[in-house]
Amino acid sequence: MQRQEPAAGTLYLVGTPIGHLGDLSPRARDLLAAVDVIACEDTRHSGQLLSGLAARGRRLSFHQHNIRTRLPQLMELLAEPLSLAVISDAGLPGISDPGEELVAEARRRGHEVICIPGPCAATTALVSSGLPSDRFCFEGFLPAKGRERRERVARIAGESRTSVIYEAPHRLLTLLEELEQHCGAERPLQVARELTKRHEQQVGPSVGAALEHFRQTTPQGECTVVLGGAPIAVDPEPDDTELKQRLQIKIQAGSSASEAARQLAAETGLPKRRLYTLLHQEGSQAD
Ligand code: SAM
Repeated sequence: MQRQEPAAGTLYLVGTPIGHLGDLSPRARDLLAAVDVIACEDTRHSGQLLSGLAARGRRLSFHQHNIRTRLPQLMELLAEPLSLAVISDAGLPGISDPGEELVAEARRRGHEVICIPGPCAATTALVSSGLPSDRFCFEGFLPAKGRERRERVARIAGESRTSVIYEAPHRLLTLLEELEQHCGAERPLQVARELTKRHEQQVGPSVGAALEHFRQTTPQGECTVVLGGAPIAVDPEPDDTELKQRLQIKIQAGSSASEAARQLAAETGLPKRRLYTLLHQEGSQAD
C-alpha cells in the first residue's frame, strides 16, 4: 500500500514542467493541491500553475537571494509539523535551481525528504541527443567569464563522457566558439532548444554545424547543450614536440603559460608540472 501524502513534517521536492504543462504528473498535482506550504522560486511565476490546481497551501518565495533568511523559517514550519513542498520555476528543484541547501538542512534535522520526480532539461536533452547516455557529466551553468570559465571549458573539452551544459541564449554563440577552439568543429554536439514547447528544436550534429546555424539564426529561448565526449586516446602518449605545439597554440589563443599547461593536462591526463616545464625548455616561446 502506498503511503499517505502529504505527511506532516516532510519536505517534498516536486518536479514541474519545463514547458509543456501536460508534463505535471498526477502525483505532483495531488501533492501540490493538498500540501500545507509551498516554497516557490517565484510565487508569481508559479501562481498560474498552482491556481489551476486549486492549491490551498500557503505560498512563500524561496530563491537564491533569500535562502539565508528563509531557510530557518521553512525549518520551523517543518518542525510544527507542517508538510512543505518546494518547486522551482521549471523542472527539478535542486538542479541549477534552489533546493540543495534546503534538503541538506532538512535531512540534518531528521526530517523526511521525498522527491516527486518530474521533467528535467538536462536528462531530457541528453536522451534526445543521440549521444552516449550510459555515462555523462552534468555541468549546469558555466562561470559567466574569465579564467574560471576558460578552465571549465578546457576541462569539459577533455572529458571522455558526454557533458550536459545549461547556457543562456545570449551566451550560446560564445560557448560554441569556445568549444570549437578546444574540441574542434567536428566534435559531436546537439543543442536542445525549447524542449517540450511548441518551437522545440534540435540543432547539431557537431560543434561546427551548430555554430553555422546560430551564426545565421540568433539563439532564442531556453537552450541545453549536449557535447559528445573526447575520444579516448588509444595512441601512445604524444611526444614532447607535439605537446609543445599544443601548448603554443593555447598561448597564441590568449592563455598564460600556466593556464595552457593546466588545460593540456586536463586534455591529456599528463601532469601539469611536466607540461609547464616543457614550455620553459630550449626552443619554446613561453613568454
Ligand atoms: N531546474 C531546471 C531543470 O530541472 O532542468 C533547470 C533550471 S535552470 C535555472 C534553467 C536552464 O535550464 C535554462 O537556462 C536552460 O539551459 C535549461 N532549460 C530549462 N528549460 C528548458 C527547455 N524547455 N529547453 C531547453 N533547455 C531548458
